[in-house]
Amino acid sequence: MFPTEQLKGLETPFYYYDIDVLRATLKEVCEQSKKYNFHVHYAVKANANKRLLSEILEAGLGVDCVSGNEVQCALDNDFESESIVFAGVGKADWEIRLALKAGIRCFNVESLPEAEVINEIAGEMGKVATIAIRINPNVDAHTHKYITTGLEENKFGIGLTELESVVDAIVKLPNLALKGIHFHIGSQITDMGAFQALCTRINELQRWFEERKIRLEIVNVGGGLGVDYEHPDKHAIPTFEEYFRVFHKFLELRDGQEVHFELGRAIVAQCGSLVTKVLYVKEGRKKKFAIVDAGMNDLIRPALYHAYHKIENITSAEATEQYDVVGPVCESSDCFGQAVVLPKTQRGDLIAIRTAGAYGEIMASHYNLRKFAPSVYSKN
Ligand SMILES: *Cc1c(COP(=O)(O)O)cnc(C)c1O
Repeated sequence: MFPTEQLKGLETPFYYYDIDVLRATLKEVCEQSKKYNFHVHYAVKANANKRLLSEILEAGLGVDCVSGNEVQCALDNDFESESIVFAGVGKADWEIRLALKAGIRCFNVESLPEAEVINEIAGEMGKVATIAIRINPNVDAHTHKYITTGLEENKFGIGLTELESVVDAIVKLPNLALKGIHFHIGSQITDMGAFQALCTRINELQRWFEERKIRLEIVNVGGGLGVDYEHPDKHAIPTFEEYFRVFHKFLELRDGQEVHFELGRAIVAQCGSLVTKVLYVKEGRKKKFAIVDAGMNDLIRPALYHAYHKIENITSAEATEQYDVVGPVCESSDCFGQAVVLPKTQRGDLIAIRTAGAYGEIMASHYNLRKFAPSVYSKN
């Protein structure tokens, strides 16, 4: 629950991170993954807050990066280069150079032209790059279309129909060592059947590679495990036990193979809330608006994906009314929730927008020349 008294005097809006929730989540993800000797890389793009990264480093997770600056951020925050993997459809030359110089564990390569460029740059630098190829498995994640990545129509990975020609070309490139296969089918996935379908596809592909006498050391199944946006307190910790069990049960592994996971949202979503103050309550003819001092520039998920976030008034406990909770930004999409049932709300009340630890702070912008919301932690 919220330490409302502690938060009252602070300038709003701000991100509030509950370090106990983060630690409990990390403990569970480590316990459940260690049962099967699975390797977990944290997807930095979900949140690169330094304080959170230090907890994640301490817990022993590796990192999954999707840009050169994320690779640099991981290095600056003391992650071992051996624990870094680097994905992304559009790696620029300087990003490839940076990752090669650092000696990261693996590039997740998404196309043949990219493989050729990595091969060329590695050659110039006198290095051999370890790569996994990202395969688009054409598995439906049953999630929002903007965060579905594993269907044929998506831009990610190498399609099944191109696989043969791409693999034939890649194995001829002298400065690449093809060591693994990589997948990532989408985000906020709550249907374990989607992960089971991914395992089945991976098993078929493993046999395909064996027929070609290619030995794979790394099977990287990506991330995407969802969290419960409706019940952030009751289900503060995602279903890691069930999630890892699905892969243990359905993936057919060969001796010595490492299984890599890349979890972002599931690690950090529930520990963060965006805390904002009510500026005005405006009564329209049809509805009441609670106008708050946080906007879509602080948390874009509702505007971008129509994402649901639980909204709580942490000051008032009076009888409930319905409000549209909206920000000050000059866009009608700057709305955190419609017809939200809240205790009777007035100017000055603190509102918590829950489950905002993933894809919140990191996606903030200066739109309307607004400043970035600072971070506050439950522990120092
Ligand atoms: C975004 C991303 C992830 C993390 O996704 P979550 O849904 O936050 O777990 C993992 N791998 C890759 C390649 C990604 O792009």
